[in-house]
Amino acid sequence: MRLFEGTPFDRPLRCEFCGELDEQCTCEPETPRLTEPEKQTASLSIEKRKKGKLVTVIRGLAATENDLPALLLKLKTACGAGGTLKDDFLEVQGSHLDRVKESLEKIGYRISKRGSSQNLMAKRKRATDVHGLNTDQ
Ligand SMILES: [Zn+2]
Repeated sequence: MRLFEGTPFDRPLRCEFCGELDEQCTCEPETPRLTEPEKQTASLSIEKRKKGKLVTVIRGLAATENDLPALLLKLKTACGAGGTLKDDFLEVQGSHLDRVKESLEKIGYRISKRGSSQNLMAKRKRATDVHGLNTDQ
């Protein structure tokens, strides 16, 4: 009789990627398992940070499914701005909705633009128009 027979611990462990039993799995743990951009939707918004600084925030892209450091670098280059990789989102300094959107779409991501804060009143109409075109796909 095995130690954990009949308990949930008795189940053989299977690799979550290839489905093989763990001892037969040949997956390399270091290999990043990325999800195609086409299957993901990035959520963009402008947020205000300390001292009224605006940042463009990209949410919805999981660190486990994307090469976020590489993505951040692309966005920083596209916007000519600094940026930070946070726990579960990317942040580019400044208001760069259009450039970030363009860059992400070029890679293949789907985009969901969220409502912006009151400091973007002037851009609200345009943002709303774009928003209407890109949601509910
Ligand atoms: Zn495997």
